[in-house]
Order: sequence, then structure tokens, then C-alpha cells
Amino acid sequence: MAVYKRVLLKISGEALSGPLPFGLHPSTVRRICEDVAHAVRSGCQVCLVVGGGNIFRGVGRGSEGIERTTADQVGMLATVMNALVLGDVFTNIGIYASVFSGVFMPGVCEVFTRKRALRHLEDGAVVIFGGGLGSPFFTTDTTAALRSSEMACEALFKGTRVDGVYSSDPAIDKTAVRYDHLTYDQVLRDDLQVMDGTAISMARANKMPIIVFSLESPDSFSLVLKGGGCFSKIAS
Ligand code: UDP
Repeated sequence: MAVYKRVLLKISGEALSGPLPFGLHPSTVRRICEDVAHAVRSGCQVCLVVGGGNIFRGVGRGSEGIERTTADQVGMLATVMNALVLGDVFTNIGIYASVFSGVFMPGVCEVFTRKRALRHLEDGAVVIFGGGLGSPFFTTDTTAALRSSEMACEALFKGTRVDGVYSSDPAIDKTAVRYDHLTYDQVLRDDLQVMDGTAISMARANKMPIIVFSLESPDSFSLVLKGGGCFSKIAS
């Protein structure tokens, strides 16, 4: 049985590329969808926000001859591509999925409206939010912070490639310490690289707990949902 009734899971684009340097790794995508499906079957309502970094990331592109706003628009389209793929994989494994976009894309998917998304969620669908907030200069982490509150989720789960928040990058610094619990203020003050500052500030303003865990192993999301496995919790 899941401890939570309704949560939002943020999946970075990078998580979907698995061992590949970019793009989508089909068996990794399927494994992550199976994990989410498992949580849904155990009674948890799940919203997803998906990133696009496995295809295109707008941040920093302003200096490469691409105007920053254009780069961000391309980044948002990348997140819609991932969202559409996830939607089909869920359908394929027997879970109803509804894809919403923060960008108006008639003929491709529905534009996000809270009421429609809630209705689908209450009908047992996984609702997938692509297109970020539909505005440049934002990230899908900020989208996750906003949508989790809008959708009245109990927590925001951030699936990454590391099993929590560390004092410094554990891949570089062998003395890095993993935190079990930390505050929003600590993340902002120490500039811990877990989510951008806008996302953390928004979660703090709305008292939305953030659970940071690794999406690298099978069933890690369903395990952390039950309070097991390894994770860091960010709260007040
Ligand atoms: N993006 C944006 N507005 C949003 C969300 C995303 O402009 O509300 C763009 C931005 O360029 C970003 C890219 O989409 O770099 C992909 O999103 P993100 O970097 O958050 O993906 P992730 O790192 O989670 O894969």
C-alpha cells in the first residue's frame, strides 16, 4: 500500500536516456513507466512532469547564435516529445495516460487545464505534463513545483541519477555527505544542486515537501512512495 494518495513525480529528460548520451533508451523508459504503473495499481494517483534535457536544453544557448527565447521554445517542444512517448508506453502496459501541454498545440495534445487534469487523475489516469509552463526562462523543475501545488499533491518526488541530496557532487568529492532531511533554506543558502532556486522557493512558499531519490533501479519510485529505499526529504 502506498503511503501517499496523490503525488507528482518529476522525471528529468536525462533519466530517460539511460546509458545513452542523449535521446530515449526504450528499455529504461519502459522500466520507469512500469515503476509508475506499479504505484498507480497500488492506489496512488500520479502526476508526471517530464523534462527535455535528453533532447535539447535551452539554458545557456543564447550565446550559440540561437536567441534564448527560441532555445527555450525548442526545449519545451523536447519535453512534449518525451511526454507523448511516455503516454504511449503507459497505454502499452495497460495504464490509461493523459498528456497535457503547457504550450498550445492543437492536434498534438490537450493544453493544460487544472479541472481536466484533475478529472483524468480521479478516473485513474497518469497525467503527464509536457511543455513546461509554456514560458521561456523557466524549467521543468519549476513546473513540477507549481503543478504539484495546483494539483493538490502531498509531495513532489524528484527522480534523479543520485539517491538524494549531497553536500557536494559525490561523483567528484568522496567526502560528500548525503542528507536525510534538509530545509528549503539550507538548499538555497548552500546552493545545493538539486533543483533551481525558483523551484525551491515555490515549493517553500506552498509548503510542498520534495523527496529526492534515484530512478536508476527497478521499482525505486514505488519503494520510496512506501517510505522505503534511500532518499532525501526537503521540507521546512
Ligand atoms: N523550458 C522552458 N520553460 C519551461 C520548461 C522548460 O523554457 O517552463 C525549456 C528550457 O529551455 C529547458 C528545456 O525546456 O532547458 C528542458 O527542460 P529542463 O531543462 O527542465 O529539462 P530536464 O533538465 O529536467 O531534462
